[in-house]
Amino acid sequence: MTKSIAEHAEDGYTHIAVRCLPCRTTKCVPIRQLPAPARALSPQELAPRLKCQDCGTRPETANVSPWRASDAPGHPSRSSRPEAGSASKKPGAAA
Ligand SMILES: [Zn+2]
Repeated sequence: MTKSIAEHAEDGYTHIAVRCLPCRTTKCVPIRQLPAPARALSPQELAPRLKCQDCGTRPETANVSPWRASDAPGHPSRSSRPEAGSASKKPGAAA
């Protein structure tokens, strides 16, 4: 089942999360910033057209996925996460 990015946007997705393995980073691209031709593609189809701005690596299709705020706490551009740093001190707290 392949959905276009525009269809994902209708499902509430706001970003495309692109994971770069060499950089070990995940970048979130706002869907509304994508040009219309790109929104007509599925995230997997978009993958070969993307390139990491830092190292130039093209992401694997499996590492390009739609992202929405309900999938993760906080906003992707927000660096302060409440549980960051304290999670490792509480064994079993994540379960
Ligand atoms: Zn990279």
